[in-house]
Amino acid sequence: MHQLLSLLLHSSHCVFLSGAGISTLSGIPDFRGSKGIYKQFDADKIFDIHYFRKDPAYFYTHGREFIYNLEEKEPNIIHKMLAKLEDEGMVKSMITQNIDMLHQKAGSRRVIEIHGSPAQHTCLHCGKKFPYELISPIVHGPQVVPKCDGCGGLVKPDIIFFGEMLDQDTLSQAISESSKADLMVVVGSSLVVHPAASLPLNTVKHGGRLIIVNNMPTPLDEYAYLRYPDLEEVFRYLEKEIR
Ligand code: ZN
Repeated sequence: MHQLLSLLLHSSHCVFLSGAGISTLSGIPDFRGSKGIYKQFDADKIFDIHYFRKDPAYFYTHGREFIYNLEEKEPNIIHKMLAKLEDEGMVKSMITQNIDMLHQKAGSRRVIEIHGSPAQHTCLHCGKKFPYELISPIVHGPQVVPKCDGCGGLVKPDIIFFGEMLDQDTLSQAISESSKADLMVVVGSSLVVHPAASLPLNTVKHGGRLIIVNNMPTPLDEYAYLRYPDLEEVFRYLEKEIR
């Protein structure tokens, strides 16, 4: 692991890419793991924009258990170390597939959320914005499905659902950062969902090095300069070495 540390210390533009695996330590279920969200709910419905428009109560009712309880979740050692590495100038940006807002809670400032975030909600009819703090109590109340107080339209979190376009500005930033990176470290992502799955290849294509820390194999393992299976072990080591 001293090799990893040395690369972190000497890289000039290090970018991290994080996935659901880093938040399981905070008690947030991942999507595709053995206790993942997709084992508990119908994946075709829960984040599908067409189904959401038809039956938003399905999303909001189940969302109580893994989105509208995020105020109770705390960043773990991985989120905290990543924020510290940014403070120390060793990380230029965080690209994340996560929608749990824990990087920001831990203090990371440059966070590129490629799948969006529930921090904001938008009325699908008039575009009015509503913060998470306003929506969460409604979801837990008798109404469950939040409606726009301006026009009565359906309100949806700014999470990218299946059937929706990614935010093009966000995607451009992620591509630009991964292309500029001389070191990309993937943490807790199995790299099966696009565009996250292809971002590390931008780094490799431009001559940067790729490190993968994940408990399961990924399709990009053959491109990895270093590969570690245990996130917690790696971050305990970094915590000890970087003070
Ligand atoms: Zn509205």
